Parts: sequence; C-alpha cells; structure tokens
Amino acid sequence: MEEIIVEVILLKKRYGLLALVIFAVFLAILVVKGDIVPKPQQKSKINIPKKIMPKDMDLAGGPERKVRGFPKREIVDLITMYPDLFIASGDSKEKKVALTFDDGPDDIFTPQILDVLKEKNVKATFFVIGKRVEGYPEVMRRIVDECHLVGNHTWSHPDIMKISLEDAKQEVLKTEKVLKKYCQDSSDGIKIFRSPYGSIDPKRIEFFGDMGYKIISWNVDSLDWKGLSAEEVKTNILENVTKGSIILQHSAGGEGEDLSGSVEALPEIIDVLKEEGFEFVTIDEILKYKEKESKQEKDKQK
Ligand SMILES: [Zn+2]
Repeated sequence: MEEIIVEVILLKKRYGLLALVIFAVFLAILVVKGDIVPKPQQKSKINIPKKIMPKDMDLAGGPERKVRGFPKREIVDLITMYPDLFIASGDSKEKKVALTFDDGPDDIFTPQILDVLKEKNVKATFFVIGKRVEGYPEVMRRIVDECHLVGNHTWSHPDIMKISLEDAKQEVLKTEKVLKKYCQDSSDGIKIFRSPYGSIDPKRIEFFGDMGYKIISWNVDSLDWKGLSAEEVKTNILENVTKGSIILQHSAGGEGEDLSGSVEALPEIIDVLKEEGFEFVTIDEILKYKEKESKQEKDKQK
C-alpha cells in the first residue's frame, strides 16, 4: 500500500513538473510576442507633416549625405591662412556658442525649429538657400521677424568647387538680392556666406572675400543630415561643444533627408547648454569679437 502511495506521489510530482515546464514555455512565448510585457514604446517622434520637398526646391549639388566629406585638415589650414575671412569659431575664453541652421527655409522643419527657438528665447543664424527663400516667403519672414540672423548659402546649393567662379558669383548675388527684400533694416549690412557642403578653397575664399563676405564655417557638426536620432544629434553636439563653438545643424533637407532627430534634440541641447552657463549668440557677435581680436593682434605687432 505504502509503495503505491509513494508511486502516486512521484507520478504527481513528475506531471506537476511537466505542467510547470509547459506553463513556463507558454509564458515565454507570450513574453516574446509582447502580449504580457508590453514592448517599449518607440520614443514619440515629432509629428512631421507628410510633405515632400518639391523637386525644384532640391539641392543642386545633391543631398548632403552623398557629397559631404570635406577634409578637416584643410579647414584647419584655411583658418590659419585667413583668420579674418574664414571663421569657424568665436571667443575661446567665453561661454558663448552660436547655433547655425543651413539649407532652409522649408515648411516642414524650419517652422518647428523656429518654434523651439521662440519658446526657449534663443537667437540663431540661418544660412538660407535663395530659391527656397523665394519658395517659402512666409517662413523666411518668420526667420527675420523673430530676429534671427540670416546668411547667404547660394541660390541652388551647388558644390561651388565644381562650378565656375562666375557661376558661383551669380549664385551668391541672386540670393543677396532676394535677401535684401527681407533684411534691409537688419543685420547692419553684415554679409556672411556659408559654402554648400562646406567645400571651399583659398581661391574661392578670396573671391567671396572681395565681394565683401565673411566665410562662416563651424567647429561642431551635429551630422544631422545623416538622418540621426535625437539622441545621436544631442551627443554629437554636447560632447564636442566648447567655448566659442559654432554649431552646425540643418533646418531643411535635401531629397529624402529626415531632420526630425535634429528638431527633437534641440530643446534639450539648449537646456543643457543654458544649465552649463552658455549664452547663445549670432554670428554678427562672433565677427565683432574677431575684429577686436585682429585689431589687438595688429596693435601688438606695432
Ligand atoms: Zn547646405
């Protein structure tokens, strides 16, 4: 009798164990499928209207991601060669940074960037494309009315190393003309130019310099044109920013370029920098500093 009871208990134990294993497998399947433990929600992306930049508003030289790759070493050389003309940063002793946005305006990303800047009460510098200024006049009006500084980024965004000097000149002049409609009474006649894709050489620096332009580069690249996530854009900026940094972001893209990561990252980038005691300046202030610096330099040499 006792033997039978022991047998039954063992059997029960065995079946119990089996049931437990089956239950565990079932549970595991549910978890993997995400029925029990909900999958982490995708971080809410900024709501982008399903609009595509019209073909005639596209970047003449191709999307940034296909063309970019200007050697850093050459930029350093240019800074040394043309300290008054080719500017990539401001005062390295002051906690001031300049946010700059290229390739706008558009009616997808630029308005969202303007909203963030307005909310955070920050002024930035926009290097705009002439034909897009013409294509999105209301957004351009907002940039100017909200007291941001505007710079020339050519008419159609060609790679100026691949076109003639005369064509490059026309690209800049045509944009200058359309910008005059917006900026007559602002900017104190400041002429700033940023070359598409950052590609430029000594000959062209001197050429645009003779046209009265300062060529503005950057020393912190968000790489947002790669369609990076907000987290990646934030890291690229915050880990490289120093006193006097000129930060590069984009306020509009080329064909298929998604800048939502850049837009999404912006509020936090501003908050973190403010917390760290940084002040936001526009490029005109950096130019004033450069002028002062070069004057001091010349006085020293006398
Ligand atoms: Zn550009």
